[in-house]
Amino acid sequence: MPALESVQELSQKELEERGEQLRREGIVIRTYDLWKTYIMGDQEIHAVSGVDINIRRGEYVAIMGPSGSGKSTLMNLIGCLDTPTKGLYYLNGKLASDMEDDELARIRNKEIGFVFQTFNLLARATALHNVELPLIYAGVPSQERAERAQAALRAVDLEQRMLHKPNELSGGQRQRVAIARALVNRPSILLADEPTGALDTATGNEIMSLFARLHGEGNTIVLVTHEPDIALHAHRIIHIRDGKVELDEPTPRSR
Ligand code: ADP
Ligand code: MG
Repeated sequence: MPALESVQELSQKELEERGEQLRREGIVIRTYDLWKTYIMGDQEIHAVSGVDINIRRGEYVAIMGPSGSGKSTLMNLIGCLDTPTKGLYYLNGKLASDMEDDELARIRNKEIGFVFQTFNLLARATALHNVELPLIYAGVPSQERAERAQAALRAVDLEQRMLHKPNELSGGQRQRVAIARALVNRPSILLADEPTGALDTATGNEIMSLFARLHGEGNTIVLVTHEPDIALHAHRIIHIRDGKVELDEPTPRSR
């Protein structure tokens, strides 16, 4: 394998071989010298500046840093919502940093389950219908769709509430619906941006227990947070500052 510095000069074939190797090694996320630069007037803002990260299947990782450190920008790159200015990003062995918008949308639907601070549920739809939505986009037939959505709600202990609409559910229950929706496509990664940010402490802890259980069941989880208490639920913390990885350390839970 070539050294990291020369990875930008690899041929198409070498890039593909590298992706194959990452997939064989069970590395779901791999970035090489990843940059995202915004131009604001005559100023360049390096929101992500040269990030190398490596996340294996089954890991539970928190990306933590102060406001403005580049967490959301990095999450948008990892989640294929945005493309880097420079550098390589392999998602499950595929070179996402080279993809056009439609291909990115496809890989995003297949590989990534998103959980947001404010749940982002359809207000007029039942919990069941909200969880079915990604399956509708994926073209799953209706019978199978209903069964899989119901199973996903069962996995977050919400089967009893599946015909309720979001305004008939508590904040914690809404976030559990959003988690069921994120998981229903069986994604390679569950990507959560401040998932407890809109919840009180007790409810936030409930959600963190659910993440712990989902991790125990084999899911790969990447959590973005500015709160050290929340990050400590993960097994590894990647500290971000000024768009760079400052520290990458295991937590006591990894033992
Ligand atoms: P965090 O999520 O850690 O608070 P962000 O990733 O949102 O940080 O932002 C990192 C830096 O990039 C900040 O300086 C922010 O102002 C800047 N930034 C983020 N998005 C944009 C954008 N669309 N245009 C210009 N600058 C941006
Ligand atoms: Mg942010």
